[in-house]
Amino acid sequence: MLTLICGAHLYTPTPHGKMDVLIAGSKIVDLQKKINIDSNTNIKVIDGTGCILTPGFVDSLVHITGGGGEAGFASRTPEMNLTDATLHGITTVVAALGTDSSSRTLTNLVAKAKGLKELGLNVFCHTGSYHLPAKTLTGSITDDLMYIDEFIGVGEVAISDHRSSQPTVQQLAELAAQAKVAGMLSGKKGTVSIHVGPVDTHLSILHDIEQQTDISLAQFYPTHMNRNKALLDAGIEFCKGGGTIDFTTSTTEYDLANGEYAAARALAYCLDQGVDKTKLTMSSDGHASLPIFDADFNLIGLEVGKEASLHDSFVEAVNVHGVSIEHALMAITSNPANVLGLKKGNIAINTDADLVLMDSQSLKPTHVWSQGSLMVDNGFAVIKGPFE
Ligand code: ZN
Repeated sequence: MLTLICGAHLYTPTPHGKMDVLIAGSKIVDLQKKINIDSNTNIKVIDGTGCILTPGFVDSLVHITGGGGEAGFASRTPEMNLTDATLHGITTVVAALGTDSSSRTLTNLVAKAKGLKELGLNVFCHTGSYHLPAKTLTGSITDDLMYIDEFIGVGEVAISDHRSSQPTVQQLAELAAQAKVAGMLSGKKGTVSIHVGPVDTHLSILHDIEQQTDISLAQFYPTHMNRNKALLDAGIEFCKGGGTIDFTTSTTEYDLANGEYAAARALAYCLDQGVDKTKLTMSSDGHASLPIFDADFNLIGLEVGKEASLHDSFVEAVNVHGVSIEHALMAITSNPANVLGLKKGNIAINTDADLVLMDSQSLKPTHVWSQGSLMVDNGFAVIKGPFE
């Protein structure tokens, strides 16, 4: 099956002006100013006039099996559905367990990932969870990464958080070393995703590891870095040392009122501060519980993270904070793909046809393709999970 997308402004995420894009099967097979097709060819033509065409979004942290449980069993959040991602332009998700790695398991995570992959989404997983020693599926981090296709890294391991296992420099360095070597052996990156909590030790354990071992900051990928201004500034130092930082787009009025920078604002702030534009990413933390604590860390409420917030924050970065479409797109396409070692988030000949067509004024997705399959047509999900 051939699909020709005509006349849209192409962002790969670098802007290229008006380009035609030809999809055959799951791949992009041609990119030119004008692609002429024999009128006898069986081809679906999509008119992209007045639209921008971008890579499918890469959401680098989603709790696909649900998270939470921090206010008892009734507070465990539900699993994600396919269209929670696709309707909002997301074609790749990276899944992880969260605080709860007892009732939430890695077997369930991989099974859910396989289910979403059967429906056409690109899904990768982290082994391990918040706590050290890390939970694994096979009994070792090395074997998980080497023999289970879905696993690409470890995490999210919690630091600077009252819910963490209070990992030591030695423990976290050993984990990162295992992930790095297993990644080398299996052709993966073995990135360690780090959940950074609100405690003002910030990223100091990662800098300690860098100073005391030969593990670089680039091995770690800290998220929730827009939690407050002080953490954001610690993140800027981390980027200067060669690391990449992630901002969480799901938020609550409570968090914003308590010093959190909205992800779009954090992105604009870091770009203004001269941070390398390839070192900044945004992720949704979708289906996480968003606990609301009082000053003594007592839980007083819960909300659920939404994958849709990734696209909302992209739009906010462009429309409210004046970030260029290119730089805002990099934060949700090529940058997260690069830090995690995924061949995603970029449009070129022979790459997977993961694409989003958006109205160039509203930036609302009208068409979404994942591996060449049309998932969203004129704003409506044409492929859904069996229980949606
Ligand atoms: Zn987290």
